[in-house]
Amino acid sequence: MLGSAAASRDQTTVESRMPESAPPRPTRAEPREVLELKNLKAAQPDLASAIDMQIALLDMQRRVQSRVPLPWIETDAAWLRSQYAAGRAVVRFADIPIDWSDFRLTLRQTADILRRFDALEPNDHRAIVDLGRDSGFEPLVKRWYESTSGVNGDKNPHALSDAPAGLDQVLVLALRPFLARCAEVLMQRTDLPPWTHGHCPYCGWEPDFSVITRAAERRLICGRCLAQWAYDSISCPFCANHDRSRITSFAARDGCYRVSACNVCRRYLKAYDTRNALRPVMVGVDTIATLPLDAAAIQRGYVG
Ligand SMILES: [Zn+2]
Ligand SMILES: [Zn+2]
Repeated sequence: MLGSAAASRDQTTVESRMPESAPPRPTRAEPREVLELKNLKAAQPDLASAIDMQIALLDMQRRVQSRVPLPWIETDAAWLRSQYAAGRAVVRFADIPIDWSDFRLTLRQTADILRRFDALEPNDHRAIVDLGRDSGFEPLVKRWYESTSGVNGDKNPHALSDAPAGLDQVLVLALRPFLARCAEVLMQRTDLPPWTHGHCPYCGWEPDFSVITRAAERRLICGRCLAQWAYDSISCPFCANHDRSRITSFAARDGCYRVSACNVCRRYLKAYDTRNALRPVMVGVDTIATLPLDAAAIQRGYVG
C-alpha cells in the first residue's frame, strides 16, 4: 500500500511540473512514462534494452523522490539576483535535502542497474560501490557538486579526474531525486530575473534535451535536475553561437523530434516539438525514443 501511495503522490508531482495541460491520468497504477516506454518497446524492439534500463532507473528514482521532502531554501533575493547576473547556479550544496544513507543506497542501486544493462564495466561498478561506502564519500560528492555547478564561481567539470569511469553518470542519476526537489521549489519563484545562459540556472549542469512549445519558443531541460528554462530558439546553448548559418537542424521522420547541431563547437541538442505532438514532453521517454537521432548526429560528426 505504501508503494502505491508513494507512486500516486509522485505522479501528481510530475504532472504538475509539465508546462502544458496534462493528459488524463492512466487508469492503471503504472506511471504514464512507463506506459509510454512499454508502447515504445513494442513499436521499436531494437530499443528494448535501453527501455528496460530506463524503466528500472525511473522506477527507482520515483521511489526515492517520494521520500525526499521539499526543501526550505532560504535565499535572499539580492543574493539570487547577483548569482543570476553572474550566470551562476543558485542551488548550494547545503540546500539539497540529502539523507546520506538514502543517497548511498540510491548510488548503489543506480550503479547496479547500469551494471545489469552493461552500461558500466565490472571494475568501475565495484570501484563506485566502494566509494559509496568510503568515509570520504560525503566530501567527494560535495566537491563534485560545487565544481560542476559553479555555484561558488569556480566551475571545473573535471574536478574528479582520477575517479572511476562512469562516476559522473552514476552521481548525476543518483543525485537527481534530491536535486529535483530544489528545482521544483525554485521554479515556483516569480521574483527571479530572466536567465539567458545555456546552463541550468539551478544546478549549473548542461541541458540534455529541449522542448519547442506551441508558441515556437524553446525550453532547455537540465540533464541533472530536469529543470526547464527558456532559451533563444536559434543559439547554441554550449558555446552561445547565434549565427544561424552555422547551426544545422534536422528532424526525425515523424516530425516530433528535432536535432539542432552547432558547426562551431560541434555539440548538438535534441528537441521534442510539441507543435506536432499529441502529448507534453516526457524526458524519460523522449530521450530514449530519440536514440536513433543521436546515432544520426554522431554519424555527422557531432558530439552529444
Ligand atoms: Zn539543473
Ligand atoms: Zn556551439
